[in-house]
Amino acid sequence: MGGDDRGGGGPAARSDAPAGARDGAVDDKREVALRRVRRFVATYVAKGKYELYPEPAVVENVVQGLTDNLVAHGRMYCPCAPVEESKTKGSDMVCPCKPHHADIARQGYCDCALFASRELVAAERGRERPASQAEPGVGDDGPREPSTGGEG
Ligand code: SF4
Repeated sequence: MGGDDRGGGGPAARSDAPAGARDGAVDDKREVALRRVRRFVATYVAKGKYELYPEPAVVENVVQGLTDNLVAHGRMYCPCAPVEESKTKGSDMVCPCKPHHADIARQGYCDCALFASRELVAAERGRERPASQAEPGVGDDGPREPSTGGEG
């Protein structure tokens, strides 16, 4: 067995290609959602009293998590909280979540580390120093890992 001819194996083996079309639609939907999340984040920072957390990779991770939740669950549920639990709390855990003001006041950044206080951002900028002096454990507790919970 082995070399049987399932579908011919010719150059145009995509006779029934709805999967490809569906992938395109999914990509499209995600792209639209991603744009919406980016616009929301930019507007919130531009008009609000917070800045972006000073690590772009962390911010991007949260943006992707918010996008995943928007696509999968229809709302920008906080990516660092269990989505099913968030769903039971109305809009409280939809970004910007209800606890983020208190979290930022307490630790300088929201739990996902998307938004941060101006003070924290200024302090981070102020202590930019040579890599040889940088310590690995910057920040107190560090941000929580976003867990979208919608994967699978
Ligand atoms: S913790 Fe931050 S990113 Fe997560 S929902 Fe709240 S404000 Fe948005």
